[in-house]
Amino acid sequence: MPFTDEELYFLAHHLIAKDEVHDGRWQTKSRREWEAKEAGKAFILTSAPCRAQGHRLRTRAGHCIQCDPKKIAYIRRETQAGYVYIAGSLEGRVIKIGTTEDIDRRANRLIVESYGGFSDWRVLLCAWVSNAGRTEREILSRIPGERTAGVYFKDGQAQTAVEMIRCSFSSALDVFAAETLAIADLKAIKKQFEEYEFTQR
Ligand SMILES: [Zn+2]
Repeated sequence: MPFTDEELYFLAHHLIAKDEVHDGRWQTKSRREWEAKEAGKAFILTSAPCRAQGHRLRTRAGHCIQCDPKKIAYIRRETQAGYVYIAGSLEGRVIKIGTTEDIDRRANRLIVESYGGFSDWRVLLCAWVSNAGRTEREILSRIPGERTAGVYFKDGQAQTAVEMIRCSFSSALDVFAAETLAIADLKAIKKQFEEYEFTQR
């Protein structure tokens, strides 16, 4: 692909492999986004220079990564493999969806840090997926129920937790299974965790 020297330097500097870049020059916006997605490529070379500086390297959503390299880290998080999990607190009557690379450590930390102000967190189930960040976001957007925020402490500092949901475990599980393509006896799992069937107030 005909990258300029400046682009090659930029890619190397940000540890982006050349084959992570889809050649979307001469394609319409929707065409290049679709092809890049199909090919599993996170970035696109376009023939339409960015307005600010005339750069050509973009995210699939069309943001210039040369003007805003922070987008690279965001994309990396979104597409990084990891566990997505459902945790529940009987004390708070809330469900939490999260991602982590180390499920045991996370399960322990939720309790130690009293996430959201509750210390009886239990990671009810988890699944390893290739796009952990994106999968978490999809699940969160599809689970019905009231979002609640609580304060918790991390390294002695008060933090705000914004990822808790007041919903039934069943509705969270249905979305989770659909998004992670987990094949399991959902009925049996629901039975196993029926004390986490929280309803909205
Ligand atoms: Zn730019």
